[in-house]
Amino acid sequence: MVKVVKFGGSSLASAAQFAKVGEIIRSDESRRYVVPSAPGKRNSKDTKVTDMLYACYELAEQEEDFKGSLKKIKERYNSIINGLNLNLSLDGEFKTIAENFANKVGVDYAASRGEYLNGIIMANYLGYEFVDAAEVIFFDENGNFDSDRTDKTMTDRLSAVERAVVPGFYGSAADGSVKTFSRGGSDITGSIVSKAVHASVYENWTDVSGCLVADPRIVDNAQPIKVITYRELRELSYMGASVLHEDAIFPVRKAGIPINIKNTNAPGDEGTMIVESTCQKADFTITGIAGKKGFVAVSIDKDMMNSEVGFCRKALQAFEENGISIEHMPSGIDTMTVFVHQEEFEGKEQQVISSIRRLVNPDIIDLEADLALIAVVGRGMKSTRGTAGRIFSALAHANINVKMIDQGSSELNIIIGVSNSDFENAIRAIYDIFVETRL
Ligand code: ASP
Repeated sequence: MVKVVKFGGSSLASAAQFAKVGEIIRSDESRRYVVPSAPGKRNSKDTKVTDMLYACYELAEQEEDFKGSLKKIKERYNSIINGLNLNLSLDGEFKTIAENFANKVGVDYAASRGEYLNGIIMANYLGYEFVDAAEVIFFDENGNFDSDRTDKTMTDRLSAVERAVVPGFYGSAADGSVKTFSRGGSDITGSIVSKAVHASVYENWTDVSGCLVADPRIVDNAQPIKVITYRELRELSYMGASVLHEDAIFPVRKAGIPINIKNTNAPGDEGTMIVESTCQKADFTITGIAGKKGFVAVSIDKDMMNSEVGFCRKALQAFEENGISIEHMPSGIDTMTVFVHQEEFEGKEQQVISSIRRLVNPDIIDLEADLALIAVVGRGMKSTRGTAGRIFSALAHANINVKMIDQGSSELNIIIGVSNSDFENAIRAIYDIFVETRL
């Protein structure tokens, strides 16, 4: 059995956190490949090393003195090294980094040093081999992740190594320079390594005991989700629930490897298993609730719209022409409504309206702003009667006016539109009916 273990920034923020991580890794022989993030925040007022590196490189780019800023970063690492009593010096590494910053080798190189240096410390601490991600993770000429080349090189390299540390977040661009994934990208590295070594599970260690049924800032003591499918997680992440980088799902999903989200500060907790498919009955009819505020509904009415071939395509062209992405599109016989992000739409609303007028000449165009969308997600909905009924009666009891309903034919989720001001109450009402009363 082979496990790949990825540790997030808060799990590696200090020597004390490193010690917890060491214990977790040593307690299970199969935890053979380790993917560390850069040191994160030690407390809410602290700064992540990645952010310190971005700020430091910015100074270098502006030809200002960056030495003091780089020294503070070095101190963060030295406090970990000293706290763990390691016989390791990063002086040579910092000398190279300072030279490269002065030569302005690139912002991605700068940001990647957070993981690179933490990887060196981790490898020394565990007695594992250090494998630089730049040697085994590749991007193509267009800057996209090159899965085939990476897979082949990494599988070859790691099959010869019993235990290794591969730093997260970066790889090599086509020109050989260092390139990072987007923020939070160490999750993707963990997934890539898991696929390459054919891991039986990808353990993603963070500071919460897995995904919760609802946002804990809205629902007190929200219940954890024990098992969730990749598709359910996609729906919830898209709607704002964040435990894992969105793109981290793809490599392991291709290889059928489950992800286990675990808590470094409570390693005994089961956490959440993310799987392709399961016949395990979920604790509740719904798996999770997530949502976002800040949408505008653009309603387009025209008599006999229904019989006008190409009406929808032309109406949507108005949004495309103005570079606006569309979120949802419920429709009636003589009306269609398009949900868009308020922030994106506000500056362009008059252009969009005139494009709609020109393209489809409707009777009425009506705008309603300050709307929120809530996704109620659950594989169990397909086989349960009355899920929608329960959602809407819970919302009616809570005096919430539902402005839009959208259920995909996959029956994996129901999307509900409400006013921004009703958002939190609506989530609490839905949570209560399914989780508290277990209906
Ligand atoms: N250190 C990087 C960030 O802060 C990547 C990661 O932690 O996954 O975004």
